[in-house]
Amino acid sequence: MVSTMRKYNGVGLAAPQIGVNLRLIVIETPLESCNNNSDANWEETQLLKLINPSIIEANSFEEMREGCLSLPGFITNVERANAVTARATDMSGTQIQIPATGLLAQALQHEIDHLDGILIQDRIDGIVNMTKLDPPWLTNKTSEIPERR
Ligand SMILES: [Zn+2]
Repeated sequence: MVSTMRKYNGVGLAAPQIGVNLRLIVIETPLESCNNNSDANWEETQLLKLINPSIIEANSFEEMREGCLSLPGFITNVERANAVTARATDMSGTQIQIPATGLLAQALQHEIDHLDGILIQDRIDGIVNMTKLDPPWLTNKTSEIPERR
């Protein structure tokens, strides 16, 4: 999952996206808090591998620009909490709580949505309202996918 997420420059990936029916997500975000992917400094990152995660507190809702590896080429604005607390089990079996803001908070909500069968098009009024881009991986230029770091 981590290699797939990194290969496609994703911030996170949920197991059902690669056909694995488990409540498991991976998220990699900059260590420094940032509000969106374009502000992110990817020099130092934290990698989270979370089993059965859930959001237990959510505050400060705002519109956030968002894409999804399952909907390549589409972006939209989605209302998300800018501050959340998530609860999960880590890879050693320990229950943990993760206070998060900005991009990490957004990624936690997005990936946990996947575990509940919710895609970003379900958070707006359908895929017709999403903006279509032409990312390089859709135009047979796979060698030109920019390295994230
Ligand atoms: Zn997604």
